[in-house]
Amino acid sequence: MIEKITLIGGGLVGSLLSLVLARKGYSVDVYESREDMRKVNISAGRSINLALANRGIKPLQALGLMNEINEMLIPMKGRMVHPEGEPANFQPYGQTTNDVIYSISRGQLNSFLMTKAEATGKVKFFFEHRVSHIDFEKMTFTANVAGTEKSINFNRIIGTDGANSPVRQAILSQESKQDSEAVLDHSYKELTIAPDENGQHKLDANALHIWPRGEFMLIALPNLDGSFTVTLFMPNHGFTSFDSVNTKEEIHHFFDAHFTSIKPLLDDLIGSYQNNPTGRLATIKCSPWHYKDKALIVGDSAHAVVPFHGQGMNCGFEDCNAIAELFPAADNAKDSDWQALFGEVEQVRKINSDAIADMALENYIEMRDSVRQHEFLLQKQFAFK
Ligand code: FAD
Repeated sequence: MIEKITLIGGGLVGSLLSLVLARKGYSVDVYESREDMRKVNISAGRSINLALANRGIKPLQALGLMNEINEMLIPMKGRMVHPEGEPANFQPYGQTTNDVIYSISRGQLNSFLMTKAEATGKVKFFFEHRVSHIDFEKMTFTANVAGTEKSINFNRIIGTDGANSPVRQAILSQESKQDSEAVLDHSYKELTIAPDENGQHKLDANALHIWPRGEFMLIALPNLDGSFTVTLFMPNHGFTSFDSVNTKEEIHHFFDAHFTSIKPLLDDLIGSYQNNPTGRLATIKCSPWHYKDKALIVGDSAHAVVPFHGQGMNCGFEDCNAIAELFPAADNAKDSDWQALFGEVEQVRKINSDAIADMALENYIEMRDSVRQHEFLLQKQFAFK
């Protein structure tokens, strides 16, 4: 019988990992709480587009996917910084044409990876299955399907279920653990710049735009349809915060005072601001990432980072690459020491993900404030934003 691995979470990392495992010959079941995003328009609720960088491209290249993914990419050659009341200045990421990062649609990439995984014939997605309790004695988990609780058996489980991972909670409740979740006292909200009347971008499409304003900032990444997704990062509480900017008047006043040049470009500012969710941001560092030979976590479930280094997905893709290199082919799975294999994944990946978590927090200060100091940033050689 073909060795089966069960993934909880069919987001970016779960979809890529299912493909990695299928290519190694495993049969993979993926349980995902949301509907199939290829059939229904799921409001992302979080970053509609993302920056894909070298560390995320490498695993995609290894699977031979980049030819098709290239069509989804918009190269961003540097930061376009928009200081208040001054002309914008462009800060290239490097000296060569290779020094770029890419804007990509989260939904498009996720859908593409799911379709590729299914095309192997070895991966099955179970949508609208919200997983809760995991029982390592009985080797079952509970999934809520249309209001009914179902008990499902597993052989080995990998949590790719994001920052609020029930698989992480199950692992950490079994073992003596190190676990920290630091919720940032700043949150984010997404807004949009629509394309112009010719369907073109209203700002330079080959740059990541930043409006740094000290305690808060806006950034914008281009989309293929000529729009930009704009993200406002701001404190949760205080004088200028998500607590204090809510009514139509407050929103107008805030954008008039701090974002004069971009305000006229924002599409349905009041409606978007008031209706789009305010997303929280957190850093998760934990250990162990596995329980015996039964369960492992990767991606945001093991190491959620704040997005200011633009490396959360990229880092999760690197986890998939590590698994591709460490796991045996399915034919040899029975003779392998899975507890040791799971431990090795944590050993090779945690040091990197912890470092990225720290750099991402540092970069927030840079972006809000010091990003105006071009020379300083160049010295730091930040990959993103
Ligand atoms: P997720 O994307 O969170 O996917 C988890 C999946 O599991 C989801 O599909 C979810 O529905 C499912 N799930 C959750 N709970 C359950 C359950 N109980 N049962 C079943 N399924 C479940 N990263 C970058 O590399 N570049 C960027 O530019 C970037 N920008 C970002 C901007 C913002 C505003 C934010 C918030 C994040 C950004 N990131 C970026 C980080 C990136 O979004 C994450 O690192 C990435 O999504 C992690 O992928 P994942 O698959 O591990 O987790």
